[in-house]
Amino acid sequence: MERLINVSNRLPITIGKTVKKSSGGLIAALEGMGEKYDLRWIGWTGGVISDADRQREIIRDLDENYNCSPIFLSRKEINGYYNNFSNSSLWPLLHYMTTYSRYDEEWFEIYRTVNQYFAEAVADQAQEEDIIWIHDYHLMLLPSLLRQKNRHFTIGYFLHTPFPSYEVFRCHPNREELLRGLLGADLIGFHTFGYLRHFRSTVLRVLGEESEMNYIAHENHLTRLGVYPIGINAAKFLQELQSPRYFRKLKEYQQVYRGKKVVLGVERLDYTKGIPRRMEAIERFLSSYPQRDNIVFILISVPSREDVSEYRNLLENIERKVSRINGKYSSIKNVPIHFINKSIDFSDLCTLYSLADVAIVTPLIDGMNLVAKEYLACQQENEGVLILSEFAGAAQELFNAIIVNPYNINQVAQSIHEALDLSGEEKKELIEPMRRRVLSHDARYWAETFIRDLAAGRQKEDGIRYDTQMIALDAIKPFVTADKIGLFLDYDGTLCEIKPQPRDAYPHAEIKEIFALLEQHQNIDVYLISGRKKEDMDRWFLIYPFTLIAEHGYYYRPAGRAEWQVLDEKTDLSWKEQIIDILRHYGEMTPGSSVEEKTSSVVWHYRRADPEFGSWKAHQLVGELYEMLSNLPVEIHHGKKIVEVSSTQVNKGRAVEHFIQRHDYDAVLCAGDDETDESMFRLSHAEIVSIKIGTGDTQAKYRVASPRKLRGYLKKALKRQRSVQSLREV
Ligand code: UDP
Repeated sequence: MERLINVSNRLPITIGKTVKKSSGGLIAALEGMGEKYDLRWIGWTGGVISDADRQREIIRDLDENYNCSPIFLSRKEINGYYNNFSNSSLWPLLHYMTTYSRYDEEWFEIYRTVNQYFAEAVADQAQEEDIIWIHDYHLMLLPSLLRQKNRHFTIGYFLHTPFPSYEVFRCHPNREELLRGLLGADLIGFHTFGYLRHFRSTVLRVLGEESEMNYIAHENHLTRLGVYPIGINAAKFLQELQSPRYFRKLKEYQQVYRGKKVVLGVERLDYTKGIPRRMEAIERFLSSYPQRDNIVFILISVPSREDVSEYRNLLENIERKVSRINGKYSSIKNVPIHFINKSIDFSDLCTLYSLADVAIVTPLIDGMNLVAKEYLACQQENEGVLILSEFAGAAQELFNAIIVNPYNINQVAQSIHEALDLSGEEKKELIEPMRRRVLSHDARYWAETFIRDLAAGRQKEDGIRYDTQMIALDAIKPFVTADKIGLFLDYDGTLCEIKPQPRDAYPHAEIKEIFALLEQHQNIDVYLISGRKKEDMDRWFLIYPFTLIAEHGYYYRPAGRAEWQVLDEKTDLSWKEQIIDILRHYGEMTPGSSVEEKTSSVVWHYRRADPEFGSWKAHQLVGELYEMLSNLPVEIHHGKKIVEVSSTQVNKGRAVEHFIQRHDYDAVLCAGDDETDESMFRLSHAEIVSIKIGTGDTQAKYRVASPRKLRGYLKKALKRQRSVQSLREV
């Protein structure tokens, strides 16, 4: 049986004098997984357990009876990691409540330390073939910490909260480290597409990492992204609705609320749930509802995070409001608001869900909101009405609810009238499809789809994880064994990582090591073939015995010669003045962009512009250029953060062709990373092996993930080459 290691802040148990199983959405979702997987759970025990003997006893008991491994935390760690960093810094920020978000550097240090404890505990237990599933905002650093321990781990991460817009997430002092922490995962799941979209744009803007809709490729790792709206444990609710206990309670409560309409609200007492605003809407509703003696609002606020001051203030505020409204609108016959600041037991909850004529779920923001789904599940007769905030993740699925903007007090008050006015037929029509969805897309379905996708994406090969056309040493075998070799290497993005400033991409130690190896191979002609200017190439590469090719093949300087030469003197460059004016115009309209003039081309760079604005302007520019340039002998390349216009008579493919015609190579290897390299890849000579670096469409025969990976392969191949050569010499 495959092993699933589930990692969350809390274990699914409560430790008092004895150990008891807890309940909750995630626990329910994973319970079902126990049949399919050998399920192990790693998490904090809750509370402080410092006695060493007691800790040992718990470790044994949890291991033998609950398949759990505990993390023990000190009081200071609980405050720093849980109460402060997770709940007072991250939680408000993830929920757009920037004014509640507090921060202290020490909290983050403790958060990192506790994430490290988790990493050690997981790495201790996990094997490479296991599936590791990490949950929620308490453990944002854990995916990368684990990846550092073993890069072959299969790691999934699910965020149970919203992911806010970049403008909000950017406020956090540790934004880079938190994002990098998450990107250690193989798959990151969100409740809605909106959260996924925010995450992508935040990663782009904070880390400068481009992404596709469903994955982010960075360094040598690929993180897939997906949308998995969590469901409820529907079976558990349906089962309760069959129990004698439920029928007994239903009868009893029906008696209590006879002749009255019941509007139900259930939530943790949290500032994200919009309770004070809802009170105002209820007040407004009551002021305009003459039969107010016939209506009861049962509002259950489950105490939550009482160690955090904002939550204590919130309770006082709500209590004041409830008491004012009840003072104003109570009569001898009725008290309109039943405010219950306690947790209630499961069968009471089911009974209330089933009894309530209307459920009012109006969070200001909520990752999903399970209460909305639980209410629907319990409405067996399809007679209830759901009022649902458009800011709850659930609103992305439950289209037939009365959707409200919780900030619009009038609209919420009006929605209660509307709910009460619906006919039986109308209610059925609305609720039936929603209930069907809630019952079929339950918690188990959620967990299964996430784990299925996580497992499906894993590949254990040494190389990029996302492409089947992976380079193997086999691919460069001819290169290893051939007598005479032509090696055409692009530089930026191929041998060297792309840097924000081109001048920072100088050859670092590993590149120099490869150059030194190449110098020792008399049978390899090296061509560094770049879009850079010849002055740039001289600065870094003059000292090597390589042929340098600049400006995509316009200029070349044979190894050992002092002078640069033009490959084709007949190249027409008369179009340049016209183009450069357009590019300058775009340069002025787009802050952070600039124009570079080369001999045979002109380039508009937008690496330092706002990434989305820059890319939008680039598309506009390309469109404009295509329209204008149909009669000119030019080509347009939209490369990495550049738009380049160059002569059709100049391209890297032509340059390669020029040199291979003059030499009798047994093998030719071309490597490049962007569109300008495709002209080399399109050459059809049999002896050419072509390698594309990174993602994107290509005509190259092989692909590697990153410059680092390519350097690794080159080093291996060169060392083999040397041994083949020395064998021959013997
Ligand atoms: N709930 C509970 N005790 C109660 C009332 C409700 O445990 O007294 C449960 C409720 O059934 C639901 C969960 O608390 O499953 C609340 O989940 P939701 O997604 O609505 O909000 P969250 O608390 O996760 O923000």
